[in-house]
This record gives sequence, structure tokens and C-alpha cells, in this order.
Amino acid sequence: MSATHPASASPATSKLAGIPGIRHIIAVASGKGGVGKSTTSCNLALGFAAIGLKVGILDADVYGPSQPKLFGLRGKPRLLGSRMLEPMERFGVKVMSIGFLVEEDNAMIWRGPMVISAITQMLREVAWGDLDILVVDLPPGTGDAQLTMAQQTPLAGAVIVSTPQDIALIDARRGIEMFRKVNVPMLGLIENMSSFCCPACNHVTPIFGHGGARIEAETRGIPYLGEIPLDIAIRQTSDDGRPIVATDPDSVHAKRYIDIARQLWASINTDVASKPPPRIVIE
Ligand code: ADP
Repeated sequence: MSATHPASASPATSKLAGIPGIRHIIAVASGKGGVGKSTTSCNLALGFAAIGLKVGILDADVYGPSQPKLFGLRGKPRLLGSRMLEPMERFGVKVMSIGFLVEEDNAMIWRGPMVISAITQMLREVAWGDLDILVVDLPPGTGDAQLTMAQQTPLAGAVIVSTPQDIALIDARRGIEMFRKVNVPMLGLIENMSSFCCPACNHVTPIFGHGGARIEAETRGIPYLGEIPLDIAIRQTSDDGRPIVATDPDSVHAKRYIDIARQLWASINTDVASKPPPRIVIE
């Protein structure tokens, strides 16, 4: 099943040429690396697939592409014709990553313009086919590459992933500010590694604090999408290329990702979300 309602384009991105076949593009960003942005992007993409959408993920994190590993994918995408690449596919999600195309160490030394050109190519010269939603896993931070990306991609909106503690939130704030400057709608904040529940004794420890992202979202007047705990099952399934939403969709953690995907889908389809529910008339 695939939902069929068009979303309104964002003010900043409506002028940009869309990608044929792709209805919505959302960016997942973070102020700093290591907060779980790629893991969240991967599981959110799978969450969109779990609610019946046609989904792709573009790994724009050229300095540290993680999606091939997260999806357990290897090999090179096929060339279709002279310049279009066929995305790889796993768990029902189409995946494109610079990690399929160049040695990681190569991309490490790329400057901003090369990064932008590589991402633009992966966006526009990949045979994505018909997608309801494309998730873009952006590089961490708010440098020129991210800013230009945010300006050049026809985005329906952006999501920021942060851990709860101040040091991460300070950087997340920069991300929020960056998207605000380029008029990309802020779809919300996700608190990752929110708390840790000891599997041996069930004691909950807020290793990186707890609730910081919610307060931040409330202070800035942006949606708070929810929290994902720090849990070994998320780390292990990610490392094994068997992401939790795909391999254990009924688990508590998978349900959280799916719930966030559902909220996001509703918010980019505000025309759907704002419609009153149908009335059942019994005659
Ligand atoms: P980023 O993309 O922000 O650099 P990653 O998604 O690569 O971060 O995550 C960094 C590490 O943290 C990875 O080893 C990943 O498996 C782990 N991780 C991410 N989110 C969680 C979580 N909620 N619980 C446990 N480990 C997590």
C-alpha cells in the first residue's frame, strides 16, 4: 500500500527542480558525529517501509558512509545506460551510498564542492524509480557542504538527531538555525541514546542525560518526535547489517522508530493530517 496525497512544497525548496518519481525528500541531520544519525536514518527509512511506503535512502555522509554496513550491503551498483546508476536494495528499501562507489579514504579528503557534486549526482543520476519518500542521511555538522545541500535539495523538511546532553544540543541548535536560515521546515528533534536500561537488573541510567532534546524542542517551538534508548540490541543489529526495524519489527525499539516515521509522514502530508477522520453513518 502506498499513500497517495501530495504534500505542499516548502517555501525554500519549491523553486528547486524535483527528482522525477520522488514525492518527498527529508534530510536527517545532526550537529555532531557519533550521536546515532545514520542508525536513526536507516531505521526511520525502514519505519517508512513498515507503514507501507516506497522508500529510498541516500547516504550523503560522504566522509563516513554507514548505510552499506547498516543495510548489510556490499558490491557496486549497476550502471544503467551511460550515466544512471541502479540503487542497491535491501529489506524493501533502495539504498545509494558513496560507500558503494569509492574507497572510504578517498572521500575523506574531498573538499566541499566535490562533496556537493557527489551528493547531487547520487540524488539526480540514480534510477530511484517511484518513491513516496527519500531519506537523506546528511553529513554531521553545519559546514558549507551541509548548507549548500540543504539549499540545493528540494527538501520537504529536516529532522535533527541529538543525544540529550548539552554538548550535543549546542551543536544541534546550530543545525536548527542552519535549516531555519534556508527556510527548510524543521520536522522535529529526536533524542537518541536517551537512557540506558540495564538488561541484568532493569535499572535505568541516563548515561547522556535524559529529556534535553524535548526541552530544546519546546524552547524552540519545533516538534519533539520522541526518544530512542541506548540499547545493545540497536548497536548489535546495526553492526550486523540487520537493522532492528527490519529484523525485529515488533520489538519496543522498532515500534518507536515506526511511530516516529508515522509522525513524520503525517507532518509532511499536512493536508492528510488536517483532514477530519471519516464519519461512519449507520442508516
Ligand atoms: P552518526 O551517524 O551520528 O555518526 P551512528 O549512527 O554511526 O552515528 O552511531 C554511532 C554508534 O552508536 C554506532 O556504533 C551505532 O550502532 C551506535 N548507536 C546508535 N544509536 C544507538 C542506540 N540508540 N543504542 C545503542 N547504540 C546506538
